[in-house]
Amino acid sequence: MEDTRPIIFVVECDDDSLDNVRRALSRRYDADYRVLGECAPQSALAALRRLRDSGEEVAVVLAGQWLEGTDGIRVMEEIGELHPLAKRALLIDWGEWADRPTAEAIFEGMAHDHLDYYLIRPVEPPDEHFHRLVGDFLYEWSRGRAGAGLEITLVAEQWSARGHEIRDLLARTGVPHRFVRSDGAEGRRLLAEVGRSDERAPVGIMREGQVLVDPTNVELINAFGVDTALEEDRRDFDVVIVGAGPAGLTAAVYASSEGLSTLVLEREVVGGQAGSSSLIRNYLGFSRGIGGAELARNAYQQAWVFGTRFLLAHEATALRLDGPRPVLEVSGEDPVTASTVVLATGISYRRIGVPALEELTGAGVFYGTSISEASAISDQPVYVVGGGNSAGQAAMHLCRYASKVTLAVRGETLADSMSQYLREALEATSNVEVRHGVEVVNGGGRSRLETLTLRDRASGRTEAVPAAGLFILIGAQPHTEWLPAEIARDPGGYVLTGSDLVRHGRVPEGWPLERPPLILETSVPRVFAVGDVRTGSTQRVASAVGDGSVVVEQLHRLLAEPARLPSPLG
Ligand SMILES: Cc1cc2nc3c(=O)[nH]c(=O)nc-3n(C[C@H](O)[C@H](O)[C@H](O)COP(=O)(O)OP(=O)(O)OC[C@H]3O[C@@H](n4cnc5c(N)ncnc54)[C@H](O)[C@@H]3O)c2cc1C
Repeated sequence: MEDTRPIIFVVECDDDSLDNVRRALSRRYDADYRVLGECAPQSALAALRRLRDSGEEVAVVLAGQWLEGTDGIRVMEEIGELHPLAKRALLIDWGEWADRPTAEAIFEGMAHDHLDYYLIRPVEPPDEHFHRLVGDFLYEWSRGRAGAGLEITLVAEQWSARGHEIRDLLARTGVPHRFVRSDGAEGRRLLAEVGRSDERAPVGIMREGQVLVDPTNVELINAFGVDTALEEDRRDFDVVIVGAGPAGLTAAVYASSEGLSTLVLEREVVGGQAGSSSLIRNYLGFSRGIGGAELARNAYQQAWVFGTRFLLAHEATALRLDGPRPVLEVSGEDPVTASTVVLATGISYRRIGVPALEELTGAGVFYGTSISEASAISDQPVYVVGGGNSAGQAAMHLCRYASKVTLAVRGETLADSMSQYLREALEATSNVEVRHGVEVVNGGGRSRLETLTLRDRASGRTEAVPAAGLFILIGAQPHTEWLPAEIARDPGGYVLTGSDLVRHGRVPEGWPLERPPLILETSVPRVFAVGDVRTGSTQRVASAVGDGSVVVEQLHRLLAEPARLPSPLG
């Protein structure tokens, strides 16, 4: 019978080392994986090329740094092109990180995206330190792989905008899923099996057989056992948090763990912008980086076990401050009241404002990185617009799939807007090109994006280029348009809090208390703002998390003195 087990591949400098690593891996993983290996780098690359050509899956590659005629990082670079989804780690000996050339190799490999991490060679079995990391790599690889453990198969037109939204939602919630084009043989067969041969809208087929035709977000979330309605008698909370990005999730963890009855309202699913980031490398404590969706899922579970109530796929549409307690109006639900409100609504990407491209949103044109679409543009040219870190990260992520990624930047340099490690990574990646002084002014395609028009800002010359994807990351605007006028904002719409509200030692007009606003309090007492939506936020996961934890201490201060609380507007 054909052996379809995915592969763990080892490249080591000599037979003894190779045997040692292979033995340790085989002992633990033989039931589910094939463990293969080579000493000579050229033989290893040839074997990995054959595996790619025969469509076999390589899950993890481990390689030593000091190989015959080359080094591990160069080999890993080539392996990344052959098997872009494989996790790659450099094998080193205990203490070898103190050796400068090895340390430099690790820094370079990770900065240029040729390595996921490093691993200390196994010693006496059972070496749980070694296996813990191998297990993490296998887990991460399996999350990015279409295959076993599927909860839902989505059948939709390849470039349907709603199909794209659903895939994005499934990717962000971490539901194992698979996408099948409705116009292919398998798509037609699946639709016929569920009696939906003529269906144009997306169809979800659940593992247990339930069929969801053109499901809403609420229907999808309900189908996975997550409640999206509130009990009739639970409409009043100590704190209602609007937004389940890093700031809102952190506030929820701290508030509910400290005994406050807590509701989180989220118009989509948990994660916010961070949920769309393929790899966050600078968040404290995750030395290998962590996928934004995974970080958000963990935080959601953490808040949930402390008792936070979540109302997902429901948007806060108005905040009423005319009664004794703040009231939030919610789409598709009755209003909720709260002793305190935390605004954690974040920001979203500025639109490109080109009608032809707006029409193709979801059909080749995407705002953000869109982790769910990366494989759909495989081996085709794509463009990323923007000059910030998020645009750089998007380009580094997409170049694993696309034949070529062009970063289109309006300015003449990235030095002021993008971290040095990302600039170096872009420069060192053969299928990434950075084009300065250009803007995307038009685009088109029959049912999806096929071409873009670029304009050289200096000469005004335009050129049409083939493009299967356009990923737009060009700045942002805060989600504050639904707030009442009493919540003071800066000219960009960001919410003013704390000392930003105090001018020349004077509290804002209409402020009803003697004390000035607390550091995260808005111009209305009991209403707070945290994370990216706040004026002056540094717009990082860590600062959103910091705000989310600090705000809860301020909520306690207010709630501990209920007798002194005035109504929100005094
Ligand atoms: C592609 C990408 C990559 C990034 N990479 C990094 C990185 O590597 N490191 C780093 O530190 N930072 C990174 N960032 C920035 C980081 O993700 C943000 O700073 C962080 O997510 C801000 O958190 P937040 O909770 O304030 O807001 P957001 O993450 O924007 O979350 C706000 C949430 O509020 C919800 N919402 C909005 N309005 C309403 C409403 N009316 N009712 C209900 N819900 C509402 C939104 O749906 C959203 O879920 C990245 C951002 C992006 C987009």
